[in-house]
Amino acid sequence: MIPAIRGTHDILPGEVERWQRVEDVSRRLFERYGYAEVRTPVIEREELFAKGTGETTDIVQKEMYAFTDKGGERITLRPEATPSLVRAFVEHSLEQSMPVPKIYLFGPMFRYERPQKGRYRQFHQLDVEVFGISDPAIDAEVLDLAWALVTELGIANVELVVNSVGCPACRPAFSEALVKALGEDVGRLCADCQRRAATNPLRIFDCKVAQDQPLIDTLPHSTDYLCESCKAHFAAVERHLHVYGIPYRLSHRLVRGLDYYTRTTFEILAGNIGAQNAILGGGRYDGLVKQLGGPDRVGIGFAAGIERLVLAMPEEAGAHGRVPIFVASMGEAARDSGIALLRDLRRAGLEAHMEYEGRSIKSQMKRADRLKAAYALIIGDNELARGEVTVKNMRTSEQAQVPRAGILDYCRARVSGGQE
Ligand code: AMP
Repeated sequence: MIPAIRGTHDILPGEVERWQRVEDVSRRLFERYGYAEVRTPVIEREELFAKGTGETTDIVQKEMYAFTDKGGERITLRPEATPSLVRAFVEHSLEQSMPVPKIYLFGPMFRYERPQKGRYRQFHQLDVEVFGISDPAIDAEVLDLAWALVTELGIANVELVVNSVGCPACRPAFSEALVKALGEDVGRLCADCQRRAATNPLRIFDCKVAQDQPLIDTLPHSTDYLCESCKAHFAAVERHLHVYGIPYRLSHRLVRGLDYYTRTTFEILAGNIGAQNAILGGGRYDGLVKQLGGPDRVGIGFAAGIERLVLAMPEEAGAHGRVPIFVASMGEAARDSGIALLRDLRRAGLEAHMEYEGRSIKSQMKRADRLKAAYALIIGDNELARGEVTVKNMRTSEQAQVPRAGILDYCRARVSGGQE
């Protein structure tokens, strides 16, 4: 046996239903908010993320699956979706074809991290992005969408945390204040943080080393260093959140691990899934489109980890409402008739099964049990002669004789609502 690669996982029947539910619920929700789906390649040029996500971020420095391909090009498996979606927005001038460019994506992302519960090397995200709207009302709308997503998935015990990280005009003063506040103490931080203090002090907030946390907690808050327009923007975001009636908490440590964020940043944390409790994160990225060679357009979006949503969803959320029907037959003529019935059931939109190995009726009924069939439709010589089907309700064991001509209506009436 050649096992799967560490940090990757197969999503098997029993669990996949929960994934389907996440995809169904979010797709319907995104479309209600005016988003359209985009699918981009899993491989991109390495420089897209070096430039987009940021040269000094952990993702780019430590976690990218980057390699030189046979043509000598530097390629990477995408570690996140936003730079790819910005690239697609620019490359296809999406603002020409979409009056309000709002796009979403589902797909695998790749980061060489230390695997643990809720943290994988191949994981999956759903991602939404809106371009070209600077009004803080859109920040609140995006937050409302994120909140609606976790609510519709039935995820309880969640907390929305928000912050503002300012803009290129006010960020330098904040970075300076961080370095100043650290002073000599910087030498007590981990090697990564010492490097961060020199290259990109904001990234110190990404530090996960336990000993560093007490000192990091004493550092200044970005919201105390906002310029007038960032301050006004953030105040308006908060006001709109009140209009939406969404509860949230301010967290000054929430700078997020990527370089492109400006102004609003946010995460949703789940209480019941262990240490990796951030199920969704995002923010505004007003300079990124231009930085990646596009027009000067602002943007905002979020990504949620599907593995973590699935983990945080209530148990019953996987229940899929499937209502299998089993066709059992005795004898060759009845078997042919059963195959035709199987075809008709499936054409009628019902889930139908049959067993081909010619076993006894008893073992066919055992198979029906194992499949958790709701009904068994039994055809033997007698049924054939009378043009009927024996229907057995597998839960109550009640049996009924139903004319072959009416069997589809009979099944549909009993199964309707169970299957989509
Ligand atoms: P990020 O782009 O790091 O802000 O991640 C956005 C979301 O993706 C997080 O809130 C997680 O739900 C999910 N996520 C990020 N990294 C991983 C990972 N290694 N394994 C599983 N989920 C992840």
